[in-house]
Amino acid sequence: MTLPLLELPASLNYVGVFLSLECNLACSYCINDPEQAGRREILFPIQAKSRRKSLTPDEWVQALNRIPFRQDLPLTLQGGEPMLYWNSKGLDIILAQTPHYYDLLTNFALKPEVFVKNLQGMQHKFQREAPYPSIRVSYHAEEMNRVWQGRGFAELVDRCEALGKLGFKVSPDKAHSDVGIYMVAHPQNQLTAEMQALYAGRVPFETKEFLGVHEGQLHGHYLYPYSTDLIARQLHPQTLSCECRTTELLVDPLGFVWGCHYYLYQSWVAGGPLKQFEQLEKHGFRYAQNQSKIFTGMAPVGHLLDADFSMADLQVFRPCHEYGRCIGCDTKVKNDRFQSYYDHGIAHTSVQIRNIQMPVSLQKNIPELAQLRQFFSE
Ligand code: SF4
Ligand code: SF4
Repeated sequence: MTLPLLELPASLNYVGVFLSLECNLACSYCINDPEQAGRREILFPIQAKSRRKSLTPDEWVQALNRIPFRQDLPLTLQGGEPMLYWNSKGLDIILAQTPHYYDLLTNFALKPEVFVKNLQGMQHKFQREAPYPSIRVSYHAEEMNRVWQGRGFAELVDRCEALGKLGFKVSPDKAHSDVGIYMVAHPQNQLTAEMQALYAGRVPFETKEFLGVHEGQLHGHYLYPYSTDLIARQLHPQTLSCECRTTELLVDPLGFVWGCHYYLYQSWVAGGPLKQFEQLEKHGFRYAQNQSKIFTGMAPVGHLLDADFSMADLQVFRPCHEYGRCIGCDTKVKNDRFQSYYDHGIAHTSVQIRNIQMPVSLQKNIPELAQLRQFFSE
């Protein structure tokens, strides 16, 4: 069945396709961990062997073909570890049968020759003209040194460089490279002279801001006060209520569309919506018609295979009672793709929040209270 095309608002900045939330590594502060405090393998008990944990390649083709092609809007494949999706065999089908350009956030779980063989000649889908690499490889020192016998960074640089002989552009200049290495600037991560010598002249390398709480200190710059640290820093005994909507299209491995990263990750921390997916499949993926029969509590905004799903579903402010546990990437201040913050001083955030029921006891400690009061309920 062909599903209706979605009408993308011009403001849509990001499409995140979480192909698989399973991962080959078990980093001690996983980006998928709402509190970035524990080992991933414990946090994500995605063990059910008998149940489906992702859409098939053909289902993804059907779902992603609903999104109109836009030269400047790649779909970002992420996870978990997206190279491992469908036993590493399905990515070429998705790339070949959809019109889009793609970005890939990966830990380079496969050897370069195996990764490229699996692409079946589809490298050009990761070769959009862009000022930064489409394949963004994350470096995780502790886990990569474990699996690659102490030569974690050297192996990662070798793997990235090897793509240069396999149909990709690799250059130390990030604007001319399809691949680059990124490291979260967590206080425990050090960029050493040895690492600099390894990547220099070969592969782009950058650090990314660490978002979250470490040793009681909040890292990152957020628009909404206490949104990520209220509970982690024990500033208040419980989360707050508010209304929230997302500006991004976030799709989980089973095609469910979520209102923010916290809701998406949290549902997989609880084992993933595997049973709900089975029920939905029996209803022909008509999520809007059957949501209340299938989900209680935290529910997705929609399902990409539901003919009734439209982008207007993302524009609705929905009640949320989890304010204070938000994931940093949703509430941090950033640029949109028009450089709104750098050029015009207009802060962009992945979610928009209003009517926060902020207790007076917390308000009095907010330095920019006059500007931020607009986000609080009367
Ligand atoms: S590689 Fe990424 S997804 Fe996997 S455990 Fe590490 S931080 Fe988490
Ligand atoms: S307030 Fe925070 S937890 Fe609630 S929906 Fe918005 S981003 Fe997610």
